[in-house]
Amino acid sequence: DRSEVAYFGAGPAPLPTKVLVKGAEAFVNFQNTGLSLAEISHRSQTANQILADTKAALTTLLEIPDSHDILFMHGGGSAEFSAVVLNMVAVWVEKRRREAEKDLGQDSAAIIERVRKELQDYLRLDYLVTGSWSLKASQEAANLLEPLGKGFVNVAVDSRKSASGKFDNIPAEDAWTLTQPRNQGGKTSAFVYYCDNETVDGVEFPNFPKCLDPDSSDEVPVVADMSSNFLSRRVDVSKHAVIFGGAQKNIGITDVTLVIVRKDVLATQPPPSFLHAVGVWSPPTILSWPVVAKNNSLYNTMPIFSIWIAGEVMRGLLETHQDRQLAGQEEVANAKAKQIYDALDRYPEVYQIVPDRSVRSRMNICFRVNGGDAGQEKAFLEGAEAQLLQGLKGHRSVGGIRISNYNAVDVDKVRRLTRYLEGFARKSK
Ligand code: PMP
Repeated sequence: DRSEVAYFGAGPAPLPTKVLVKGAEAFVNFQNTGLSLAEISHRSQTANQILADTKAALTTLLEIPDSHDILFMHGGGSAEFSAVVLNMVAVWVEKRRREAEKDLGQDSAAIIERVRKELQDYLRLDYLVTGSWSLKASQEAANLLEPLGKGFVNVAVDSRKSASGKFDNIPAEDAWTLTQPRNQGGKTSAFVYYCDNETVDGVEFPNFPKCLDPDSSDEVPVVADMSSNFLSRRVDVSKHAVIFGGAQKNIGITDVTLVIVRKDVLATQPPPSFLHAVGVWSPPTILSWPVVAKNNSLYNTMPIFSIWIAGEVMRGLLETHQDRQLAGQEEVANAKAKQIYDALDRYPEVYQIVPDRSVRSRMNICFRVNGGDAGQEKAFLEGAEAQLLQGLKGHRSVGGIRISNYNAVDVDKVRRLTRYLEGFARKSK
């Protein structure tokens, strides 16, 4: 029975049972239409309404300002690693093109020549590498820019350069080596990228980084991957040019990726021919934010069922927390995480939490049992399985234990888990 199983998987992740029950019905016969939501046309009135309703719920929850648009896309967070680079480099190029046009008028050969040179001399992409996913994103950037040359990606932070050699901390902001603003040495960043919550390593930014505040950082666009902590706390969307995340953790089922993008990003795109002339890829159509936006996320066939599920999850949050937007869910998420960390902290000789206290993720709680003793960790997992506490094995790249504490993991199940943590610790002391 579903109520007996407590699942703590990192993604796909638990969904509210209420949503699944309603979803099962919608999968067969949506609102008595005699059709499944998986069967209807993505261009139908019903599908359009579902898109609009889901956008409206997300706008309310995250208090998304008018300056930003919401896109539904394919390919998960991973596709956005590429989309970010291609769309944001295009913005960078377009800004340079417009400046060159002001100086050089209609001389297109001269404009191309100048922008091509500026690109080689000045373009940088800043990445804060604080875990496995931001590392992957930065590697994708380097890969996509390889035909232009090397050195475009500036790793402003690599948190493995610490005493432990692990992704278990976030260095202080004054140690970040962000690209200088253009007026202080020529180079400019197309964006600064961070991953708000590192799913594999259990590291979460405690707050929005101060030095990235648009008021203080020369307006370098900020891009955030929120795949694994979306809708778990309030976010100041206005500080970001782009926020993206796959739905399959806190929002819904896989197959739909949410992208919140500032409208000026959409409006600052050069003609593809200009990009080609200066030696840059234009975004593949399916990854082009302006194309997706222009088509109301219906450039091609979208998974309407998945988008509806996401909407149901969001409406559930709105219903539960009423007019508190995400403040209510933030309290719940914090309280659940605290309960788990408190239980672990009571037995430091048995449980060793991987990340530094100041950057502990509220969503993915990563720890070792008895210093990573293979037998003890196996015993921990087997004992948990026996009590139907599932999905606790750490990511294969780092090992250990990981408790994923997403929104749909309810308080009762967290309580069951903490009882198990206590019992196991007492037994093995
Ligand atoms: N970013 C983060 C933070 C993730 O946790 C994941 C997936 N676990 C990804 C990106 C990649 O997402 P996807 O599998 O949807 O491509």
